Parts: sequence; structure tokens; C-alpha cells
Amino acid sequence: MTERSIFTRILDGDIPGEILAETDRLFALRDIAPQAPVHLLVIPKTSEFRDVTELAAGDPALLSELIAFATRLAQEHTDDGDFRLVFNTGANAGQTVFHVHAHVLAGGLNEKSVGA
Ligand code: 5GP
Repeated sequence: MTERSIFTRILDGDIPGEILAETDRLFALRDIAPQAPVHLLVIPKTSEFRDVTELAAGDPALLSELIAFATRLAQEHTDDGDFRLVFNTGANAGQTVFHVHAHVLAGGLNEKSVGA
């Protein structure tokens, strides 16, 4: 990636953004435009993977860590621990930031809408 992503710039402290939680390889933010009562983003600190397909192929252990981290965050931020995990993959599927990230959505998700 030639230009640093918005998430890397937040991680580096160059633009504002509260880091809710982190591990050695991942961090979490609240989405700036929430689509559900709980809407968090779980993001690898590395920007080398553009989307979840690249992450799965390139570092499956990191994808597994991401899911475990999302699960922990959902337990901390909801009453029941239930959540929806969304990876928009490709511009035509709504992806706008090409630094892989998962949307963790929870609360008021009774419909089957795809959201985020
Ligand atoms: P995508 O559309 O790529 O799946 O998701 C990118 C997400 O990043 C969007 O939901 C958008 O609201 C969020 N976002 C974009 N800029 C910022 C920002 O500066 N701070 C935070 N916390 N979220 C952002």
C-alpha cells in the first residue's frame, strides 16, 4: 500500500480516533457512522492485507485472532454476547477502506438486513 490507510493514521495518532482495545496484532475502534447500537471495527495493525480473502490466504492465524478478539469485544459491549461479523469485500460490496477490517454489529439486529 503506497498511501497509509485511515486506520493506520488513527493507529499512529496522526488523526483522532479512540482505540477501544488492542492486542499485539489488532486494534478496535467505534465506527464513526454506526449502523447498529453497537458497531465496532476490528482491524489488524498491519495494512498488508486489503480484504478478508487476502488475510485468510496470507495469515489465517491472524484471521482467527481477529475473530476471537471480536468475540471478546462483543461479550464486553453487549448483554448477550451475540453479534454479526461483516467483511465488506470489494468496492461493489460496499468496501471503502482497503485495509482489512471486520464490522462487529450488535443490538437491534432482528432483521436479516446485511448492514454496514
Ligand atoms: P467499509 O466500508 O470499508 O467496509 O468500512 C469502513 C468503515 O470505516 C465505515 O463503516 C466508516 O464509517 C468507517 N470509518 C471511516 N472513516 C473513519 C474514521 O475516521 N474513524 C472511524 N472510527 N471509522 C471510520
